[in-house]
Amino acid sequence: MRCHNCKQILDDKISSKLNFCPLCGTRLFDESKTFFITIYSVGQRENVAGEMLIFVDERILYEATPGNGVFFHINGGFHTIKFRTGVRTKVIQILIDSDFEIRAYFNSLTSLIETNVNPLEGTGAGHTPKEIAAEQFTEPKMVSDIGEKGFQMILGEEEPDYDVEATSGLMVGKLKIYGDRMEFSPDRINKTDVTDFIKIVGVRRKMGAIDVQCEGNVHKIYSIPKDTYNEIMVYLTNRIQEIRG
Ligand SMILES: [Zn+2]
Repeated sequence: MRCHNCKQILDDKISSKLNFCPLCGTRLFDESKTFFITIYSVGQRENVAGEMLIFVDERILYEATPGNGVFFHINGGFHTIKFRTGVRTKVIQILIDSDFEIRAYFNSLTSLIETNVNPLEGTGAGHTPKEIAAEQFTEPKMVSDIGEKGFQMILGEEEPDYDVEATSGLMVGKLKIYGDRMEFSPDRINKTDVTDFIKIVGVRRKMGAIDVQCEGNVHKIYSIPKDTYNEIMVYLTNRIQEIRG
């Protein structure tokens, strides 16, 4: 990372709260600006390591197959991007003050992920809402409101206590229930909605469906097969009571 004003290299361990260059005193970033980030997963399609998982701020997960990329927008400031392919992980912190192009690849000789980070000259002004609306951004594979923990759970090999067909609104998919959360994965949509039990206020029966009331008065309603309905209702009610105390 370097200061866009004095071009001096900033310490990698610099606090992400710091908004002034410690070397020249210039403002480092503007959180109100929006920038475009393109990340290419460089490599052969037959790459043994397979697809590259890209975690942005431990909150949003993208997946890129070798030879392809992801494109998204982000606010100015410090961000962490974690790359994972196979068992290899690499985390970088970048100061976003312009658009960036990042190339990531798995070096099969060293078995390490290598990254090449390039700010794009002349893009420091950020993008207008109109420019943002005109772009086609990559759909995240997953968004986790509970940070890294959510991804570890999804990417781990934990078995759910219940795994049933469910519908939520117009979406049909799978509802998986674990000891501390539930996950709804609609068919044909590459995205999982994770609800941590700690954020659930209560569960109620609603015309044969489960009404999950979350903090902020958000309701998630799932219709599930009759033969497991009562059992799941009891399970959820007990688990949520235990977790919320
Ligand atoms: Zn500086």
